[in-house]
Amino acid sequence: MIVTSRSNSVLRCKSGQSHVWSLSDGYLDMSAELLRGVRNDTVPKAVEAGGFRLSVNCFALAGPGVDGILIDCGGGCWAPTVGRLERSMTEAGISPASITILALTHTHQDHVRGLLACDGRVLLPNLDVIIIAEAAVENFVSEPELAQFRRLLKPLRDGDQLAEQLRIVALPGHAAGHSGYAFDTYEDGFLFVGDIVHVPALQFDNPTLSWRYDDDQSIARTARLKVLNEAAESGIWIAGAHLDRPGIGRVTRNNEAFRFEPAGG
Ligand SMILES: [Zn+2]
Repeated sequence: MIVTSRSNSVLRCKSGQSHVWSLSDGYLDMSAELLRGVRNDTVPKAVEAGGFRLSVNCFALAGPGVDGILIDCGGGCWAPTVGRLERSMTEAGISPASITILALTHTHQDHVRGLLACDGRVLLPNLDVIIIAEAAVENFVSEPELAQFRRLLKPLRDGDQLAEQLRIVALPGHAAGHSGYAFDTYEDGFLFVGDIVHVPALQFDNPTLSWRYDDDQSIARTARLKVLNEAAESGIWIAGAHLDRPGIGRVTRNNEAFRFEPAGG
């Protein structure tokens, strides 16, 4: 995999015949009080005092069988610091009209509300399908603002293929139906991990650290450890909705802890 361009908002990489873009949707500031499973020594004083900042990232794919796929669509107007996906797509040279498949990791606001721009416009006018885990459908359907998109839902189960090289992978614990997407470019493996890590500055060092917005903290912790262990062993690229920009990198093991090495150095 090689990084072919990089800015604060857009990272573009090429692997085999495929391209992957990491697109910034903005960021969210969170209070340290949301952290769970904190040992005294694990939260640096600066985080305790000032909280922490989560990047919000979406990912676009192009190549044989995966043209026009976007993974998550950011928060739209849900918070003032998100909703920048459209701008990042413009910078990347990706027309929103070229996206036909949206693959959701889960239905939290910072991942789905970007379906609508702040002026009420549909951001992705040619969307044919919204891929979603079966277990997440109910939550999507309960959002009245998103009613016009329900007809596009295509529920899948763990392991189902979206394309020859792309399959959905259950990563339970964070939210109903929370899922990743495994992408094999025949040169590299990528795993789009959704919200498996929220606080990269702390959770690679201390992967047992959880936070309030995990539905089931114990199951989420187990899923996080499994993903990080497997990523460290296999050398795949992980791409996370809340990993610090550029949002894609490799994981290495360091005894009980992990290190994240961002793509492009
Ligand atoms: Zn999230």
